[in-house]
Amino acid sequence: MVRSITIAIVRTELIALRLDKLDTLLAGESPVGAQNSWSANMTTKRVEIYVEGWICSACENENLEHINGDNCGKCGKAYEDEKDHCFDNEKVVEFPAKWAICYDCQGEGTTYLGWAAKDQPAFTQEDFDYEGPDFYEDYMGGRYDAQCPACHGEGKVKEIDEKAVAKNPELKAHLNEHHEALRASAEIDAEMAAERRMGA
Ligand SMILES: [Zn+2]
Ligand SMILES: [Zn+2]
Repeated sequence: MVRSITIAIVRTELIALRLDKLDTLLAGESPVGAQNSWSANMTTKRVEIYVEGWICSACENENLEHINGDNCGKCGKAYEDEKDHCFDNEKVVEFPAKWAICYDCQGEGTTYLGWAAKDQPAFTQEDFDYEGPDFYEDYMGGRYDAQCPACHGEGKVKEIDEKAVAKNPELKAHLNEHHEALRASAEIDAEMAAERRMGA
C-alpha cells in the first residue's frame, strides 16, 4: 500500500511489565511446593516492536496498517491522504520469558567460525579424511570456535513465555503485533532476495 505521509507522529513508549506484577500473573501456574525451581527459570524479554498505521479522521480510531489496512477498523471509512494522519510507533514491550538452551550452539556459547546454525557445515568423516588430521585436531580442539551469534556466547537465550502472555490481553495484543512485524519483515526480506535473484 502506497500513501503520501501527511504527518508522521513518531513516538517511543516503554510498556514494562514489572516483575512483581509478573509473579501475580503467573501465580496460577506454579504448582504448590515447586515454586523455587519453577521461578528460577523466569525472566523477562524486552522486544522492540515497530508499528505503522493511521488515525481515522472520522472516529479517531488508531488503525494499524497490518491489521486494518486501508479501511478503518471501527467505522469502516477508507483511508484518505488529505485527511488521515499516518503514524509510526516504536515501542518496547517487556514480555514474561523463560531461559532456554541456545539452539544455535546447544549451550556451548561458540559455533564453527561464529556462524549461525543455519549456516553451519555438517562435516562427515569423508570431509575430515579429505582435510587431513590437522584440520580434525584443530576442529576438535576448538581452533575454529567463535562466539555464537545467537546468544552472544552466553549459551542461553530468552524465549517469550506465550502461555503467560495469553493470560494478559494487553500483552497478548502486543505479542500479536510483534509476530505480525516479524512476518512482515520476513516477507520484505523474501521479496528483496527474489529481486536480487531477478537481477534488479
Ligand atoms: Zn474510523
Ligand atoms: Zn548460542
